[in-house]
Amino acid sequence: MKIIMLGAPGAGKGTQAKKIAQKYGIPHISTGDIFRANIKNNTELGKKAKTYMDKGLLVPDELTVDLVIDRVGQEDCKNGYILDGFPRTIPQAESLDAALEKMGEKVDFAVNVEVPDENIVNRMSGRRACVGCGATYHIKYNAPKTEGICDVCGEKLILRDDDQPETVLKRLGVYHDQTQPLIDYYAKAGVLKEVDGTVDMEDVFQAIVSVLGE
Ligand code: AMP
Repeated sequence: MKIIMLGAPGAGKGTQAKKIAQKYGIPHISTGDIFRANIKNNTELGKKAKTYMDKGLLVPDELTVDLVIDRVGQEDCKNGYILDGFPRTIPQAESLDAALEKMGEKVDFAVNVEVPDENIVNRMSGRRACVGCGATYHIKYNAPKTEGICDVCGEKLILRDDDQPETVLKRLGVYHDQTQPLIDYYAKAGVLKEVDGTVDMEDVFQAIVSVLGE
């Protein structure tokens, strides 16, 4: 099953993508996580990506598309995968479709987690990320067991640079301009499924499972 998660930054798609990957036993591929790992390891890709991410802008397609196409061609993706944060532009979606067509494959579901802008800004200010492993939490909706400390690796939790309020507003603008058109794109392809992302995290998950099927 090849699934794409759509939704504004902070809609909770990363959290849901991880849970879905676990339930269906497929890899979770997050372009944001890949870029952050590269930044942490100070790679050339990381240095380039950081200049865009810190400003709330999208990393250019030429640094993003090949990376994902290469990843979905790997052995562990044979039975499907969940893409979280990709595609984010129509050209990215077209490149993915073209690459999948060559492999005789296609996207099965595009799940849009819907959350209005006013909820997003509130949510993002409560988001915390681990400086060690990158795990994400929310002080209200998905709190760590010990305040400020990662459950997974015990490192410190911080408010990421790209989750600072002014960057969030910028990212929301970018989302509406460049990513929201994908909702129509996947609706036309007949694979769009919409779920309400404003309800409890577990209820969002159940709604997604019910649209994907057991
Ligand atoms: P995320 O963790 O998915 O919210 O991504 C964090 C940041 O990484 C975004 O604000 C972008 O700067 C960058 N990024 C992640 N995925 C993509 C993508 N598919 N295309 C361009 N930039 C991306």
